[in-house]
Amino acid sequence: MSLKNTQKIKCPDCGTEGEFTIWQSINTKLNPQAKEDLLSGELFAYTCPKCKKVHYVNYGLLYHQMEKQLMIYYAISKEDEKEILDTFDKMENGDMLPGMESTDYTCRVVHSQNQLREKAYIFDIGLDDRVVEIMKVMMVAHLSQTNPDLEVGDIFLEITKGKPERFVIRLKNGVLGNSPFSQKVYDAVKAEYIDSKGDGKRDYIVDMNWAVECLKNK
Ligand SMILES: [Zn+2]
Repeated sequence: MSLKNTQKIKCPDCGTEGEFTIWQSINTKLNPQAKEDLLSGELFAYTCPKCKKVHYVNYGLLYHQMEKQLMIYYAISKEDEKEILDTFDKMENGDMLPGMESTDYTCRVVHSQNQLREKAYIFDIGLDDRVVEIMKVMMVAHLSQTNPDLEVGDIFLEITKGKPERFVIRLKNGVLGNSPFSQKVYDAVKAEYIDSKGDGKRDYIVDMNWAVECLKNK
């Protein structure tokens, strides 16, 4: 099941009103176009019908990839996050949500549109997000060793045409850099840190903090 509604939006530039679709949940099987829009970044973009300016709208939603038994929830507040974590816990105890055929799901919670997009991509091409987050932490450690003055803001894995391309690194002073994705490093990290850890389906929040903890506990 997918859930959506239409909201009126007033363009902050010219004041013209238009309609915008807000998704509460996207089932990728029923709404493949919504999935494509999410991956391309279009989902949160509103184009004014009159002045054609693009404005980004922020809202939380559930991304449900039925065929992969995957749920990624984008939480925009602490309350929002608590609610979905409760729901995930209930699922673990056997409660099914609409549209589910089993409770054997991989569940994640993310906190930004970019994280949502990145994770949806990562799972879509069959990578393990835990390995990717560890690779990011290693990259930051390496960067701060070689360039102690650099302050890293964000790192995202860029995926093009179904293949992991490169890590895009945004520094705190706004400058961007990048580093190519290495399948060799991915495989080595997976073998050393992840293969012994089980499937991680219920590690709800997998981000760089998660990766730091994982490396510490090794
Ligand atoms: Zn406008």
